[in-house]
Amino acid sequence: MFFFTHLLNIEIVDIDKYSVSKTAGHDKMKLVIFGPPGSGKGTYASRLKSKLNIATISTGDIFREAIKQDTELGKKIKKYLDSGQLVPDEAVIKVVRNRIAKPDCEKGFILDGFPRTVEQAKALETAVKIEAIINLLVPEEIIIERLSNRRTCRNCGEIYNLKTLKPKKEGICDKCGGPLIQRKDDTISVIKERFHVFEKQTRPLMRYYESKVPFINVTCNDIDMPPEEAIEQIMKELKKLNLTKRIP
Ligand code: ADP
Ligand code: ZN
Repeated sequence: MFFFTHLLNIEIVDIDKYSVSKTAGHDKMKLVIFGPPGSGKGTYASRLKSKLNIATISTGDIFREAIKQDTELGKKIKKYLDSGQLVPDEAVIKVVRNRIAKPDCEKGFILDGFPRTVEQAKALETAVKIEAIINLLVPEEIIIERLSNRRTCRNCGEIYNLKTLKPKKEGICDKCGGPLIQRKDDTISVIKERFHVFEKQTRPLMRYYESKVPFINVTCNDIDMPPEEAIEQIMKELKKLNLTKRIP
């Protein structure tokens, strides 16, 4: 018998330092979901999207779609995704700027996979003020297990896991009936490179944000923990930050 909440350690760091609750007003809700490759950013973002009724923006999904459609952008960035390197800041920033100007972002958004460098964070800051960072802390063993068993819907991008988050019908997306595929960069050698890139280029962002934005730290120490457990906790913490009253 498991009590998943014991495995989940969620805390807000020093809310009083921040002025979120005072400035909340009628602003949009703008969140960043942060964590290493395979920490569950996409899984949590898609669940938070339906709870909060705001847009999710996954730069990884946008890039994979561009590659699938073989657009100009897709042609330019394919080599970075295939090798686990970061797409150059300039290209990423342009994509995100255009995306957050779309009508579905009017009520707010969750950024999944952006920012990933200090340069990107600075560019974002000139456009919007982020109100909270959901910071996923997951041990490396769980991540490797997750990534090697991860399957993604080719049509809608929904994420499954062959062991822990199975679709109702094998190989078929519950949401849209599309085929489930393995991401090209979910191979051991590219996974290792993605980790390396995360530690070197993305981890320093934590320090950059530390004194600027409240963190909701979510620790997951059990691979079988249902994502819903974490989502409930995140919702509670968002409420404490006075953000959920803006749910449209
Ligand atoms: P993960 O976090 O599991 O590695 P993502 O889907 O977020 O997966 O990203 C996949 C790939 O897309 C990255 O390895 C990188 O090549 C590219 N990418 C996504 N977001 C960014 C970003 N903000 N800056 C640079 N490259 C990015
Ligand atoms: Zn689907």
